[in-house]
This record gives sequence, C-alpha cells and structure tokens, in this order.
Amino acid sequence: MLTIGLTGGIGCGKTTVSRLFEKRNIPVIDADVISHAIVQPGQPTLLLLKETFGEQVLLANGELNRQYLRELVFNDPNKKETLEGIMHPIIFGIMHDDLIKLNTPYGILSIPLLLETNQQAQVDRVLVIDCPETEQIQRVKARDQLSDSMINSIMRSQCSRSLRLKRADDILLNNGSLASIDTKVQKLHDFYLKMSAGKNN
Ligand code: ATP
Repeated sequence: MLTIGLTGGIGCGKTTVSRLFEKRNIPVIDADVISHAIVQPGQPTLLLLKETFGEQVLLANGELNRQYLRELVFNDPNKKETLEGIMHPIIFGIMHDDLIKLNTPYGILSIPLLLETNQQAQVDRVLVIDCPETEQIQRVKARDQLSDSMINSIMRSQCSRSLRLKRADDILLNNGSLASIDTKVQKLHDFYLKMSAGKNN
C-alpha cells in the first residue's frame, strides 16, 4: 500500500491536517497516540521502562512519571538512546500492524520525528507540514502556554525547517485559513489516489 509519512515541527499543524485527511476517509496512524497508549498502567512497555530506569519512572498511582523520564534522558544521551531503543521498535511494530489492516487506497503514518529518527525508509513519501517559524511559535504559545525558551529548546531538538523541507517529497504550507488548508489537502488526496492507483496496477 502507498504509505505517506506525515511530519513537521511542533505546532506546525500535523493534527489539523490529519483531521482533514480523516474527513476524506483516510485514517491517520499516529505515533504520538501509540507512544502514549503503550505506557499506560499495566502495559508491558511501562514495566520494561520501570525495569530499565528504576521505580522512579512511576508515579505513586502507577502512571508514567513523564517529567522525571524527560529530565533523565535530556541530561544523558546514552539513556535517551536506550529509551528510543525500547520505544521506537514497539511503536513502529504497532504502526505496521495497523497499516496492513487498512482497507483504503493509501495510508498515512503521522511521525513527528520521522526525519530526526531516520525512519524515511518506512514510508513511500514524506509529507512535511510546514509553517513559518514566527507563526509556529505563536500557535504553540497560544495552545500550550509554554515559555519562549522552552519552545526554542524544543525547536532546537527537532531538525531545522530548511532540512525538513529538503527531505520532503510533498510540502503542505499551513499558513492560511482552515478552508485554504482543506483545499490543499484535497489536492494532495487526489494526487495520492492517482499514485496508489498506479502502484496497484
Ligand atoms: P504538535 O507538534 O504539538 O503535536 P501539531 O503539529 O499537531 O502540534 P496542531 O495541533 O495541528 O499542530 O496545531 C497547533 C495549533 O495551531 C493548534 O492550536 C491549532 O488549532 C492551530 N492551527 C493549526 N493550523 C492553523 C491555521 N492554519 N491557522 C490558525 N491556527 C492553526
């Protein structure tokens, strides 16, 4: 099946664009949703994190202590690598299983860190949701009430806008009204339908 990897920096509009593909009956398999689901209390991945990083990764109520884990890996590249080594294969395994169950002309995998984690080979085309950095910062600020320095540090941990655009097969510039984004999604949808028809012939 034709597989599109949807990606983009924080707050660029990945979720907004995903909803517009879903409106066209193209389900979006979302790495963020899966990464949250697999660390819910009782899930084997959460137990594995506890075994690997110690009891402190759990809150008293048994949930993942996200802040502790974030700080732990932020300060230690080896631990970051260990965490990614646990999480990424599980997430990609589930995404792959979900993808092959689809009964649609093409499938979309939403992977915010697709390029940063070098996963381009998992998809046929890379679709970058792009927006000017000033707008990106304004949107994240309005949505998450994060400080400028926190937003900057998240943006620095992601690949640069120029690199992302260089790696893109398709670019959706999300800088207008929702109606104009909807029109751009329709164009891409038509293009992917044509492509998938060619692929299946
Ligand atoms: P994250 O990386 O944090 O998951 P995201 O890439 O999924 O974010 P969205 O959640 O879709 O981005 O958008 C970020 C914020 O910007 C949201 O509050 C959304 O409503 C708003 N937004 C997205 N696109 C537009 C647009 N074209 N015009 C105005 N606001 C927008």
